[in-house]
Amino acid sequence: MKRTGKCPKCECTNIIADAKVIDRAHGNIQQELSIATFRNPGALFFKEKQETTVSAWVCSSCGYVEFYADHPGTIDLSEDE
Ligand SMILES: [Zn+2]
Repeated sequence: MKRTGKCPKCECTNIIADAKVIDRAHGNIQQELSIATFRNPGALFFKEKQETTVSAWVCSSCGYVEFYADHPGTIDLSEDE
């Protein structure tokens, strides 16, 4: 959807790009939705958190939503070992 500019569900081409996904934390604090991976998952301490925010592409016709990591390289741990 991000690359094709077309909804895979209804084939509408009016796509709302790069919408920010608002998450609400405790105390109703708004923050951008993010995803994370952790280095040293077995460690009790010093789990190194790798995090990126997420943006959404939304079909203006049927409402279908696709999520994309803003910086996917940030959470990619495959290069480490
Ligand atoms: Zn659609």
